Amino acid sequence: MQARTYRKEVSDSTRFVSTRAIFRKEESGAGELGFIDAVFQGLAPDGGLYYPTTYVDLSDLFISYDKDSTFIDVSSSMTRALFPSEFNESEARGLCERAFHFTTELHTLNEELTLLELFHGPSCAFKDFGASYLASVMEKRVHKEGKCITILTATSGDTGSAVAQAFYEKQGIEVIILYPSGRVSPLQERQLTCLGKNIHAFEVNGSFDDCQWLVKNAFQNDELKQKYGLSSANSINIGRLVPQSFYYVHAWNQLRHRNEGNWIFCVPSGNFGNLTAGLLAKQWGLPITHVLAASNANDVVPLYLKSGMYMPKKSIPTLANAMDVGSPSNFERLETMFALEAVKQGADYNANDFGNFIHQETLKSMHGMSISDMEIKEEIAHIYKTHHEYICPHTAVGTLVSRKILAEAWAKRHGYNKAVVLSTAHPAKFHEVIEDISGTQVSIPERLARFFDMNPQATFVEATQDAFYDALEKVLG
Ligand SMILES: *Cc1c(COP(=O)(O)O)cnc(C)c1O
Repeated sequence: MQARTYRKEVSDSTRFVSTRAIFRKEESGAGELGFIDAVFQGLAPDGGLYYPTTYVDLSDLFISYDKDSTFIDVSSSMTRALFPSEFNESEARGLCERAFHFTTELHTLNEELTLLELFHGPSCAFKDFGASYLASVMEKRVHKEGKCITILTATSGDTGSAVAQAFYEKQGIEVIILYPSGRVSPLQERQLTCLGKNIHAFEVNGSFDDCQWLVKNAFQNDELKQKYGLSSANSINIGRLVPQSFYYVHAWNQLRHRNEGNWIFCVPSGNFGNLTAGLLAKQWGLPITHVLAASNANDVVPLYLKSGMYMPKKSIPTLANAMDVGSPSNFERLETMFALEAVKQGADYNANDFGNFIHQETLKSMHGMSISDMEIKEEIAHIYKTHHEYICPHTAVGTLVSRKILAEAWAKRHGYNKAVVLSTAHPAKFHEVIEDISGTQVSIPERLARFFDMNPQATFVEATQDAFYDALEKVLG
């Protein structure tokens, strides 16, 4: 395969800078980091998110893939091409082989809809791809430097289980996961508390916000940071975002070799990490024009697309609860991406109406829609009735938004007649919702069911700084 012999100059390694510094010319260069450093930094010191300072053109690499190129082929060649000074060819391949012991699957539902199934990993959701790659990157550095680190993360359920599985038994890395007592599902709680070994679950007597506050607070304590070597595996970490771009490229390549028609990716979105990763793939040369943003009742991004006004608000609980986000963290990355596009088109960054230019650029790459809980239920029932298949509530947001938009004049104007919907979670993860709607029993895959035979173990912690620090000392000592 040609792809493996693809080479770039070492000096071309992608570097990252805070979204909040990218236009402050006088500071450019100052906060610029290589990939692995940006991974360990997590959030930029100024509160911004890491974003590539330059885009490498990988279009030659993409068209060099043949019809048998595997997900590992795509991910390792992209890793190598993006970060040649961090990983040589065999390191890139080793990294991806360790991270991805699971893959994606394309599943054709009908003429109009194909699902890109991203739930074949250990926690049954797409977050496994990002978490697993991040864990392997961190393991490599820890191994090389012989230092031990502690990952500290707060979860409302889904992120924690992907992180727990990804870091399980990683040498030199301890993981502390804080979750709100009584507010995660029984299956989610088991995924956090049953693994043991280097995975330590803290059951916090408080809300998810309390958990996040405890984590933030710990990261501001330099002494504590030093002592335990604290690092974050947060969903805003660039080390989780980059690998999510790989499955867009892999799916595009598979569809290209099948001569599928004029299709568009549709992404069920909450924090918009997944969708941002698709647009990064486009910036790196993937020949797609638009992606569809599919939102539940939390509709800030579809409203922005319509009006040009971005108004974050409090999140609303829905059936697609992993997408219940009122202020999507990756909007800052999207805004940066389209601001850079606007500047490239000649817009003046300091102009009063620069926001309009950003909005115009956004519309060249995105279209979207929000749907209600009632519609989610109807869509799950519709897919079950017509295809005898279960889809999770998040995927249902994607299939319905796709069907609606494909019927719009917008799709006709751009020639789209098919959608590839990112299927973000296994239906069994949300079996209660689906059983309610379909009246049938959803079988639970073994990799989830096994948790019910294991012993849960958690440290109960009051939501105060002192109680938390004491518990940390006891566990990590
Ligand atoms: C996290 C999650 C989403 C939302 O992904 P973002 O990258 O935050 O937009 C969608 N579906 C499922 C099942 C998830 O776990």
